[in-house]
Amino acid sequence: MKKLFFRLFFLALFFQIAPGVIHARAEEAGTVTHAAVYIRSGPGVSYPITGKAAENDTYTVLQKDGDWFQIRLPSGNTGWIADWLVETGISSAKQAEQGKITADRLRIRKAPDKSAAIIGTLEKNAAVTVAKTEGSWVYIESGNVSGWADNRYVQTETNRDAGKTAENNVSAAIVAASSLNIRQSPSLQSETVATVTYGTRLQITGTDHGWYEVELDDGTHGWVAGFYVARESQAKRSSEAEVTLHSGTSLYKRPQSSSDTVGTAKAGDRFPVVSEMDGWYKIRMESGISAYIPANVAQKSNKTVKKGIKGKTIVLDPGHGGTDNGTTGAYGTLEKLATLKTANALYEKLKKAGARVILTRNSDTYVSLPERTAISNTNHADAFVSIHFDSAEDPHTRGHTTYYYHAQDYNFARLVNNQITSRLGTVDRGVKFGDFHVIRENTQPAILLELGYLSSPAEEKHIAEKSFQTKAVAGIYNGLKAYFQ
Ligand SMILES: [Zn+2]
Repeated sequence: MKKLFFRLFFLALFFQIAPGVIHARAEEAGTVTHAAVYIRSGPGVSYPITGKAAENDTYTVLQKDGDWFQIRLPSGNTGWIADWLVETGISSAKQAEQGKITADRLRIRKAPDKSAAIIGTLEKNAAVTVAKTEGSWVYIESGNVSGWADNRYVQTETNRDAGKTAENNVSAAIVAASSLNIRQSPSLQSETVATVTYGTRLQITGTDHGWYEVELDDGTHGWVAGFYVARESQAKRSSEAEVTLHSGTSLYKRPQSSSDTVGTAKAGDRFPVVSEMDGWYKIRMESGISAYIPANVAQKSNKTVKKGIKGKTIVLDPGHGGTDNGTTGAYGTLEKLATLKTANALYEKLKKAGARVILTRNSDTYVSLPERTAISNTNHADAFVSIHFDSAEDPHTRGHTTYYYHAQDYNFARLVNNQITSRLGTVDRGVKFGDFHVIRENTQPAILLELGYLSSPAEEKHIAEKSFQTKAVAGIYNGLKAYFQ
């Protein structure tokens, strides 16, 4: 524990942030027991800071979303606190329960640490007893071996998501600082091995007290402070290419033939290709773990994707609806109605072009954010477009913005934004990274559009005109066309 506080102290010193530790005493109570911690308006570091929690403050914990706790503030409002600074009594007090292994050949270690000795392995679907939990590790007992395992690969009644996470283990983070150092070990005194910029996607391979162990696309390993990254959902993205392997092909840990192997392929094994470099393919195994294979021993095939809008599944998401009005314009325009109008017009245009178009709502009804992403995910949408209108305190703020969350959607966002700009002719506020639920939790290519500011009286008037709708629809349509080219 001393070590943890030491690290937190240094983070505070260097980054001028105010870390703290919360102890959740019961399922619904949390007490700040150390220093202070920033409270944000949403579950991510990109949300504005709305306050600070002081030492010994007690809050009701309302829910958990990803790595964040939502708490009730004394004012009656709610706020969000990062859970990587949080210690909960809930998980450690867990009783023994039955579980099963969800990964191939899961390594069992002597201690709850990635560097601890491997004392055995367990096969997929093996039944185990989970005796205790420590951080992201569980102590499991089975007939063959007892020891510590990564809890992402151990599914239990209370940890149902473990299986899902293991299968879709593309646990990644997006850099939310303009520049971020990747360190050799989880400490600010540690040597810098690489520096990455805002929006870079990092694969997370481990965690340690607020630090993430990450892997870069070139295979570099290192650690980043958790405050400066936003976690990506455990979403599996369909890969463009896959490789078919021969029996006995070694799967390497690093893109070097001198590297350790993580397994051997069986004849005909097929894996999605994550990236390619210098004669190596980086592949993703079913367990979610990455491996490397020399390109000359693999047969690569591209999944053939037909070009054009025709036949594509496109999910249109008119923002807000029902009890949720969204923003209200200077002259009273309701965002929920403006988004529906635009989405309906776009729906018609895409339908005519032969697309399979799905609206998350086609009337003034309330649809939750998880429902919206579920519509996209379960329909395997080729594209998901969420439509919104903006608001700002300054009535002079105008223009349109296109947001993406997953780094691989940047290009999609860019293409659509370009077309909106050329059609609409309004102020181009550009393509930005945005931590919004409907694009963050989307396993499909997804963007969120803010087509204009209803808080600007001039822009609100413009938005209400039929010509604006026609131009906006044409812009988004052409952007989709360019994306499917
Ligand atoms: Zn909105």
